[in-house]
Formats: sequence, C-alpha cells, structure tokens
Amino acid sequence: MRIHRGGLAAAGLALCLGALVACDASAVPPGGDGGPVNPPTAGGQASGAPEDEKDPASGGGSSVLDGKVIVLDPGHNGGNARHPAQINKQVKIGNGSKACDTTGTSTAAGYGEHAFTWDVSNRLAKLLRAKGAKVALTRKDDKGVGPCITERAALGNRLKADAALSIHADGSSASGHGFHIIEPIAVGGNAAMVPRSAKLGKALRDAYRAGTGLPYSNYLGEDAIDRRDDLGGLNLSTVPKVFIECGNMRNKGDAAKLSTAPFRQRIAESLAKGLEAYLR
Ligand SMILES: [Zn+2]
Repeated sequence: MRIHRGGLAAAGLALCLGALVACDASAVPPGGDGGPVNPPTAGGQASGAPEDEKDPASGGGSSVLDGKVIVLDPGHNGGNARHPAQINKQVKIGNGSKACDTTGTSTAAGYGEHAFTWDVSNRLAKLLRAKGAKVALTRKDDKGVGPCITERAALGNRLKADAALSIHADGSSASGHGFHIIEPIAVGGNAAMVPRSAKLGKALRDAYRAGTGLPYSNYLGEDAIDRRDDLGGLNLSTVPKVFIECGNMRNKGDAAKLSTAPFRQRIAESLAKGLEAYLR
C-alpha cells in the first residue's frame, strides 16, 4: 500500500470516471474543479454492462446495495513507476503535504500491487453492480498514471458516495502477515465522516475475516484496525471511507493467496458482504 498518487491529468480523470468507460485522462474537466459531475454510470471496466443491469440471481432490487453509490479506489497504477516526476509531485493532504501517488509494492515473484488492486476492484464492482449499486472507480485502467491521492478522495466527495474503499496490499517485512483496515483520524474537513468510517471499517473487517479466512495482521493495528492521519485519501474524504491492506505481499503465505484469481474472487465477495452489512 502505502501511497498513492496521480498525474497532472488526474484532475480530468476522475471527473470522467463518473462515466467509467472510454474516459480520456488528458481531457479537460468541464466546468473545472468542483464542477458538476455526472453520476456514475455504466458497468464500466469490469463487465461493460450498464450499471443498473442486475444479476437475475440477485433478485433485483432487494439488496440494500440497490441505488447506493460506492466508490472503489484501486491503489496505485501500472504506469506510476515510469512517471516519477508526476507521482512525486507534492499535494496538500489537509495536515501537510505528500507525494501525489506511489508505485506500491509487489510479491517476490513480481506480481504488482497495482495489478492486484485493479483486479480485486473490478471483481468487487461487478458484484456490487449486480445488486444494483452505482459503482465508480478512481482509475480507468491499470496502465495509466495516478490519479493523485487528492483526486482519489475528491471523487467520492463529488459523487456523495454512501461508502468509499481504497484497496491495497501491504509491503511489510516478510515475517508480517494478515490483513488490516486503516480508518481515518479527524484532521479537519473529514471529522464528520470519522464515526461512520469506523462502522464501515468494522463491517469490512468482520466480513473479510469470515470470508477469506485470513488472520488479523500480526504487525499492525489492534484486531486488524489501524488509524492514521497521514493518508490524503482519508484526510480529504467527506464521505465514509477506509483503506484495506488485504495482506502482506512480501510474506510468502499471504503472497501465494493474493496471487491466485479464486482467492481474489473470495476477497471481492467478502468485501461486498462487508459493504452490505455496513449499509444495512
Ligand atoms: Zn498500496
């Protein structure tokens, strides 16, 4: 995990992420910062299906997810490593400055965190859309740059998301294993969302533990809950938001799990259940 960031084109990117598909990151956002944003539409990257196309097996609108706006933030981006000047640009995060985004970690075998977060986010988006949720992602592919952490937070704010989730995997020492949630600390503008974010974090923690079988982190947090005030994605959010570190990519056991598609599907299913539990 650790860090996120984005390119100069990021300001335009998330505005068009409302539409999710075929968005040109270099496009100039209509109306500029703070301008009107289209609601998230269209099934987008994961399936290409319309956002309101429900899985017949889901029973249509019976889910608490029906009509809810969920912003998923796949950490990092595949092009970040090749664009250090863009991602190292300093941005204001409410209580200081930080790099716009970061490259993320990888497993020893070279499976990148950006690829992991992209895959999990799309699996999760598909599940949520099948139950009627309107889902927007903070990036449109896994080969671009950024967006900056400021923009990753701003998208949820603009869409007035019912919940936002940044998806990461950690790059800690090899002996550390397990997952943890990162909840916000009030630093000013995010104060009102902190209590609801704590509720969101616990719902996701419980669902993730039950659904994946992964243990709580043995190196960070208390019962898999950590709290931080140095993440722009949390400091700048006005909607309920947490991060999840899905496991430690530098730990052999965690890496083996995170590297398989069936396990990533379990992760997505667990996170969908956690979001449902929070919204219930
Ligand atoms: Zn990360």
